[in-house]
This record gives sequence, C-alpha cells and structure tokens, in this order.
Amino acid sequence: TLDFHPTGRHFLQIPGPSPVPDRILRAMSLPTIDHRGPEFAALGLKVLADIKKIFKTKQSVMIYPASGTGAWEAALVNTLSAGDHVLMYETGHFAALWQKLAARVGLKTEVMSDPGAEVWRHGVRADLIEERLKADSQHSIKAVCVVHNETSTGVTSNIAAVRKAINAAKHPALLLVDTISGLASADYKHDEWGVDVSISGSQKGLMLPPGISFNAVSSKALEASKNAKLPKAFWAWDEIIEMNKTGYWPSTPNTNLLYGLNEACDMLLEHGLDVVFARHQRWAEGVRAAVRAWGLQIQCADAAVYSPILTGVMTPEGVDADAVRKIIYERFDCSLGTGLGKVKGKMFRIGHLGDCNDLTLMAALSGCEMGLKLAGVKLAGSGVQAAMDHFSSHSAVMPLRK
Ligand code: PLP
Repeated sequence: TLDFHPTGRHFLQIPGPSPVPDRILRAMSLPTIDHRGPEFAALGLKVLADIKKIFKTKQSVMIYPASGTGAWEAALVNTLSAGDHVLMYETGHFAALWQKLAARVGLKTEVMSDPGAEVWRHGVRADLIEERLKADSQHSIKAVCVVHNETSTGVTSNIAAVRKAINAAKHPALLLVDTISGLASADYKHDEWGVDVSISGSQKGLMLPPGISFNAVSSKALEASKNAKLPKAFWAWDEIIEMNKTGYWPSTPNTNLLYGLNEACDMLLEHGLDVVFARHQRWAEGVRAAVRAWGLQIQCADAAVYSPILTGVMTPEGVDADAVRKIIYERFDCSLGTGLGKVKGKMFRIGHLGDCNDLTLMAALSGCEMGLKLAGVKLAGSGVQAAMDHFSSHSAVMPLRK
C-alpha cells in the first residue's frame, strides 16, 4: 500500500519513458488476440508500413518485443563478427553503455571523443571520424556507432555529417545509429542520411510504454548480415523479415503494445511529423529560456546541437543535482531525470517530449524553480516568468482548440 496519497497527475518529466496519452492507453486495453489469426496480420502489416514512415525509410524495420538495449545488441550481432573493430563515439552515458555492450558481445571497440572538449557537452565531431577513417587504410574498422540524441546530456549529433565523413574517407564501414530517444521527436531520415542500422525504442517520442524496440536497416546492412558470424537467433533479421511479409513474427509479439504502436503512428502522422518536430523545438526553446533566466548552465554547450527532447540543467558547484531532484519529487510529485555516469550529481534533466504541452511544462518548470530555491540555489531570476514570456510570445505550432 502507498504511504502517501497523491492527487492530480504525477509529472513524469524524465526524458523517457514519457507520458502515454489516454488514446494510446485505451487502444492497448483491448483484448489480446490470436497472433496467428487474420485480424493480427492486418495489424502487423499496418504497423510495419507506418513505422517506415516514421523512420523515413522504404527498407525493412524490425520490431522487437524488447527494450532499446535489445535493439542495440540486435544491430551489432546481425552485422558483425567476433573481434570486429568498431569505432564508437562517446557523446555521453548511453554511448558509453552501448560500447560496454559491444565489448561484451565480443567486438573490439575503439572509443573516440574530442580530447579538447568539456566532458559530454558536445555532439559528434564528424571531422574527427573522417580523419580516423582515412588513417584506417586497411579498412579494419567495420562499423561506426553514434547516438543521435544523447539522452544523458540533451545533446544531438548531426548524422548526415557523419555519413558525409564516412563517404569522404571512402571507407566501407557500416553506420549504426542509436535514435532511441530521437525518433518521432527530432527529424530523422534513415534512407536520406544513409544509415545502415537505426535503433530506436517505444518509450520516448512514440509515447508508448517501454517494451518495443526497432532496427531499421539498409540493403548494405542486410548484405552484411549474411556473412556476420556473431551468434544470433532471437535477434536474427532473416526469419523476422520472412514472417513480416505476411504480417506475423517468428515468436509471440507484444500484441497490446502493437495496438499502442498503431495508435501512436496514427497520431503522429495525423499531426504531421513536421508539426511534431516543430512542437518539440518550441518546448525546448521555452525550457532553455527558463534555465538561462535562472542563471544556470545548459549541459549542451553548442547551440547548433541543442536537443529538442530534453534539456540538461547543470547545478552550481557544490550543489548536488540529485538533492534538488529529490526535493522536487517529494514536494511537488514531479520526476526529473538524474545525472548519469560522469555527470552524476552535477546536472538534472528535464524531458519535454511526446504527450506534453505548454502548461505541463510550465508546471514542471515551477516545480524546478521552487525546488532549486528550497535547495538553497541562488537564482538570477525567474525561469518560470521567462518560459511564460516565451510561450505567450511564440504561437503554438499546431492547430489550437476552437
Ligand atoms: N540509448 C539511448 C539514447 C537511451 O536513451 C536509452 C534509454 O533511455 C537506451 C539506449 C537504452 O534503452 P533501454 O533502457 O530501453 O534498454
């Protein structure tokens, strides 16, 4: 039993899982059906077609009943062999976790980052990748792995620039991209950007509970999968692609999450992806206006790669960011993201993604402002006022109620 009695809604302002809209919750509440029956096939074919539109691809997308970590592993084991050399760019905690996983499945990982930059405040430097690949004249590097939206910091990376760098180096390495928290919130173009495997998950911009993850593939990645020797069974693309042709999967899919995915794709495509992306940009700008007014630093130090999905807020020297989060959670029933790995205790994260609006963000920012003050942080001014000014002077990007 709960020893407290919340009223109203909890403010889930972490950068995923994000709040699940009622429309999706209702869709998922329908009875589970026979996953080998005709009704299921119609659902399977529909979600497989819709998710391609979200990835902006005409190629296959694998849907796994797994969290994002599973799809990370799937991308590697389908395309690579034991001991293969992979180049992984460390933008933050999730890039670091992916590297750990790659090492555990038997790959030789090379971690790169910008040696002159502050820790985890910048996106990928494509020029450094180009330089490294040019030096690899033997083509021993088999894949380049980058994170599109680094959820631990609120920093994005320019994926088109990474593809350009690989091409400029005339290097055959595959490009594997984690867009677990980027997809359906920030623009993502699997085909146009020449990504070989795009990895994503359900619990962020798709507004679903955790439990589904994806691999979008290229023909080059499919070709590589035919010769890749790392052990794979559950994750193997070939059987999934074969069964998907008729709307089914080799093993039992998570039917009710697929109802949710169907609804989520309908919602996103009804709104229009461009509207969805613009909405996220606008929220992010409002939140950054608040952070600046408080006189605090934004974790992302490069305005060109600010995340539309979340904002990392650095607390002043000597202030434990987790203590601030704890106050905000306990006093105002609002969950914020913790600082992870190398930035633990130094920053907290405000999620502004998915099923969100100006007023949920205003409430979250009020909680932050009150919590920061209660924690003894001297603020330069009111972030809440700055965000209100921002939202009231920038019109909404989607049709409003009449
Ligand atoms: N990559 C990124 C960028 C993430 O944000 C996350 C989770 O937050 C993961 C990977 C890991 O995914 P999961 O926790 O769903 O396994």
